[in-house]
Amino acid sequence: MKLQVQPKLIIHGGAGSSLHGKGGLEAVRRSLYTVVETIYSLLLKGATASDAVVQGCQMLEDDPRFNAGTGSVLQSDGQIRMSASLMDGTSGHFSGVINISRVKNPIQLVQYLQESPDRVLSDYGAAELARELQIPSYNALTDLRLQEWMQERQDNFKSTMAGVVAEPELVETSNAGRGTIGVVVLDAYGGLAAGTSTGGKGFERIGRVSDSAMPAGNYATSHAAVSCTGIGEDIIDECLAAKIVVRVTDGISLKDAMQRSFTEAHLNKRDLGAIALDAHGAISWGKTSEVLLAAYHDGESIGDTLEWNDSELIGYC
Ligand code: ASP
Repeated sequence: MKLQVQPKLIIHGGAGSSLHGKGGLEAVRRSLYTVVETIYSLLLKGATASDAVVQGCQMLEDDPRFNAGTGSVLQSDGQIRMSASLMDGTSGHFSGVINISRVKNPIQLVQYLQESPDRVLSDYGAAELARELQIPSYNALTDLRLQEWMQERQDNFKSTMAGVVAEPELVETSNAGRGTIGVVVLDAYGGLAAGTSTGGKGFERIGRVSDSAMPAGNYATSHAAVSCTGIGEDIIDECLAAKIVVRVTDGISLKDAMQRSFTEAHLNKRDLGAIALDAHGAISWGKTSEVLLAAYHDGESIGDTLEWNDSELIGYC
């Protein structure tokens, strides 16, 4: 296939309240830029949007700093249960896994499910599939996440969410936000895809289902693609990813769709963020939370939202 359009890419490592140390910020920036550079070069070599999204999600899942795959936060019972999804805007297929344990890369299973007649599997079924595919058992727990959970248990789970990124200095001051990951891509053939992966919001009740494996948190058509982060319940209440994508699909510009959707979310006092791309290559991000950890490649250079702190609800390029 001939490369036809300039590929674009935006990724996130979660949203939440302000990152504490500058050291943390620089480390997050390095992590995000490494993924952007690697995935962008794959896109220039002709990778499809879905493949690029899966590769990007996998890299972010493997980075213990973020709350997805290795480094996932623990639920109220001290267990890790991860959720992930992929939507290919070209095929129009959504696939996902909900509350899966003991796999290294939930997004790999999600990729497999794209071609399956049953495309969203929960805990038991996802574990069965991992066994069928002979995916080795893997413990995603890190010492930092365990410490964070023990601290919270001492405080009787006062926090509503776990830390945005796993940093030693954040363990003492939890409730710093979240670190779910997401990747949104426009490939060189004009195809769009979005992927999101999470360990959940942390300390939640067993069986709680995250937005990350729902069209509310991750959605794409051939017109636009969106990945969300933040408090899952808020994202579901706004049906944020699907709402933005449907607005663009119905003819509203990405910028206006983001502005309307984030104005509504702000009025409704939601705590969330999102990254988005449209088929023309417009890139946008938005947040009602304090920070959004996103980085993008606009075809010429890399930018990020790490120090974006102004009163605007959305950014655009
Ligand atoms: N949205 C995720 C959840 O509620 C958490 C996050 O984005 O950090 O499960």
